[in-house]
Amino acid sequence: MHRIFGPVPSRRLGRSLGIDVIPHKTCSFDCVYCECGATTNKTCKREEFYPLEELLEELDERLSSMEVRPDYLTLSGAGEPTLYSRMGELIRRAKEMTGLPVAVITNSSLLHMEDVRRELMEADVVLPSLDAARAESFIKINRPHRRCDLAEIMQGLKTFLSGYKGKVLFEVLLIDGYNTEPEDLEALKEFLDSVRVDRIQLNTVVRPGTIRELKALGSERLEEIREFFGPKCEIVASGYTSAKGKETDTEIEEILSLLKRRPCTLEDIHNSTGIPIPGLIKTLDELIEKDEITTNVFNGKTYYTTEAKD
Ligand code: SF4
Repeated sequence: MHRIFGPVPSRRLGRSLGIDVIPHKTCSFDCVYCECGATTNKTCKREEFYPLEELLEELDERLSSMEVRPDYLTLSGAGEPTLYSRMGELIRRAKEMTGLPVAVITNSSLLHMEDVRRELMEADVVLPSLDAARAESFIKINRPHRRCDLAEIMQGLKTFLSGYKGKVLFEVLLIDGYNTEPEDLEALKEFLDSVRVDRIQLNTVVRPGTIRELKALGSERLEEIREFFGPKCEIVASGYTSAKGKETDTEIEEILSLLKRRPCTLEDIHNSTGIPIPGLIKTLDELIEKDEITTNVFNGKTYYTTEAKD
């Protein structure tokens, strides 16, 4: 069994240790941009694909062999994690066993199911996605299982988000010609304005998906859409640089929140946030100048920290 992977440096979650609860490639969708390849088992039926006890055992083994603990445990992988029928128990027991917070990445397709919503409440962070709020575009980009109904999914998301107390990082992936017509963006905005989210994260295709000739959105277009979606929206597409060529406020927030958790070297911050080194050095220098962070040298290494110098 190799169901535990990473830790993977993640812009959104720091160092995240993944728990892959779904066999490749089992999903309720077959998105045109999926980097895991075509869906071979398109299903909406929840199952205990791997025994819960084995997953927990493997997690325990992996963590005991790690020198530095991850920031998060994340249910993700090559498929839709909410299809795992013992998800709630897995989240609860993994948290009890490790003391680590748990994040779940989901395509939102099963949120119309009461048991899925209840189980997902156990997670500390949920990263739901919705790429389209119009049925035509939803079918074109996500190629869902025939039982997935967009109106039901959106209602399920609304119900879940109205009761969920954890952090919500909402992802929208945009592809030219699939979900970027003015009516698509209007419908998405209307939906996003009606739910409680902490962040709306815009992404676009960066690697070939199951359809090769997909067109990514350029920085300028992404910036326009970010503005249209409002202040909670940020761009997380890999390789994106803002029009002003400056690090965004979000990046500064990410750095500060990481350093509040623990002192880090330049390399640690780069690995956790994905911010390129030259820009990162400049931002760190600016934060030092503003007295928001300081440096300490320990064992010959320079650590950045938000704690005051001794
Ligand atoms: S929901 Fe995720 S795993 Fe499923 S096809 Fe889409 S991108 Fe791939």
